[in-house]
Amino acid sequence: MEYSGPTELYIGGEWREANSGETIESVDPATEAVYATVQKADSSDVDEAVQAAAAAADRESDWRTMDPDDRRTAIHAMADAIEEMKDEIAMVESHDNGKTPFEAGLEVDMVIDTFRYYAGWTDKATGDEIPVSNSRLNYTVREPVGVTAHISPWNYPFQLAGRSIAPALAMGNSVVLKPSEQTPLSALYYARAAEEAGLSAGTVNIVPGIGSEAGAALSGHEGVNHVTFTGSTGVGRTIQRSAAAAVADVDLELGGKGPAIVFPDADLDAASRGIQYGIFMNAGQMCWANSRVVVHEDVADELVDRMSTIAERIPLGGGIDDDGQMGPVVNEEQQQEILDYIETGRREGATVVAGGGVPESKDTGYFVEPTVFADVDNNMTIAREEIFGPVLVVIEVSDEQEAIEVANDSQYGLTSCVWTNDLTRAHTVADHLDYGMVMINETPNTWPQTPFGGTKQSGHGRAQGKQAVESFTEVKNVHVNLE
Ligand code: NAP
Ligand code: MG
Repeated sequence: MEYSGPTELYIGGEWREANSGETIESVDPATEAVYATVQKADSSDVDEAVQAAAAAADRESDWRTMDPDDRRTAIHAMADAIEEMKDEIAMVESHDNGKTPFEAGLEVDMVIDTFRYYAGWTDKATGDEIPVSNSRLNYTVREPVGVTAHISPWNYPFQLAGRSIAPALAMGNSVVLKPSEQTPLSALYYARAAEEAGLSAGTVNIVPGIGSEAGAALSGHEGVNHVTFTGSTGVGRTIQRSAAAAVADVDLELGGKGPAIVFPDADLDAASRGIQYGIFMNAGQMCWANSRVVVHEDVADELVDRMSTIAERIPLGGGIDDDGQMGPVVNEEQQQEILDYIETGRREGATVVAGGGVPESKDTGYFVEPTVFADVDNNMTIAREEIFGPVLVVIEVSDEQEAIEVANDSQYGLTSCVWTNDLTRAHTVADHLDYGMVMINETPNTWPQTPFGGTKQSGHGRAQGKQAVESFTEVKNVHVNLE
């Protein structure tokens, strides 16, 4: 089906062409054909977007001075508008990114929940009264930070943009969003939702563009007070440096190489199903993937058998035209990178027990077979680097202590999973894991109300939960002499 959604920049409440007149093409990874062409923002467009956002976040602006219950109504109205457009957004996302319509629908549902959750926070971000000397009153209030920048990746384009713009808006901030050039389309629907909800001009601005151009202009802009970046660790470092220009606050949600630790007392049915979702959903393009299985030697062979059987049975297919369970990866470059990692794994001595290449059944589309590696050592490249594709590596260990050591021996610290039916062991291991999130007997999972983020090179700051409320507000301390 042809694309008929928004294609222009949205700045200061206007849909308009880029100053340069240049465009970006969105390619459908299942068909390899151009699906849509959108306007490409450069630094001059970004500058105008930041100025519009600054006016909208001004101390006297409508948005900032709005009663909390009216702002709650507005955020719910955005959620309503997104709900109305759900099927269209999911279809667009499926064509733009390659994920299945089912997976795209889950993304939209999560966004609706996130907007509704933060709508409820508009009247709950309270300050404190702090006891000081007699005859003095001291209290804090939470104020908006001002202009918030959001730079989002291509793997969950709609959700990962919505995850930070919902709390930013709920706390009275304005937003400038730059989606990935690979998947610029779904983000534009936030502008439609803002229009439907009657938000003032400049409260939400969307500037699709190239990372090194529009993204760099945004993260380094002196008018930006807060930057949320979700993407790779390498670009995250650059963002942190460039945000230093405005001494802007930075939340970084970066990469991962999450372990799934499987003990002999685990329910292997549940564990293998959980690991399946944790590596083959979204064709493995997940920051929080459980891409590294750390399994006790007593159950290693059985788990490897189960995972390879599962991998071989996953029906491939993307876009909206057929009913596969796993789509292609986002582009040819990503496909090649994953295939290169598979080659490196073979060369370094690991054994491919399932998949390991491009599926013969597909001559169009950037598909990679669901792949499982056994005989992996944690020092191999495929155990250390984020592959960001449907490639699972399985590492054997001989006791609990070694499992914890191997799990923690990573530059990343985003999500970890523990599969065991021993209650004490579950909590002891959770206590020892250097990860921002630990799942016990669960595939990687999250809710708008739970904090999401990592340690080490997986970033800092937390998305979601009350942590995002704190991140998108500034604390002001007021001290009163009552004498
Ligand atoms: P990426 O290449 O780092 O890009 C992320 C965003 O940054 C895109 O919008 C990109 O724009 C932009 N960008 C690139 N260079 C920039 C620069 N110099 N200055 C400012 N912005 C710039 O990441 P990706 O490949 O899209 O996404 C995959 C990565 O994201 C993986 O590492 C994954 O683990 C991570 N991720 C983390 C989380 C989390 O919550 N922790 C969630 C999802 C994904 P262009 O696309 O136009 O270049
Ligand atoms: Mg695309």
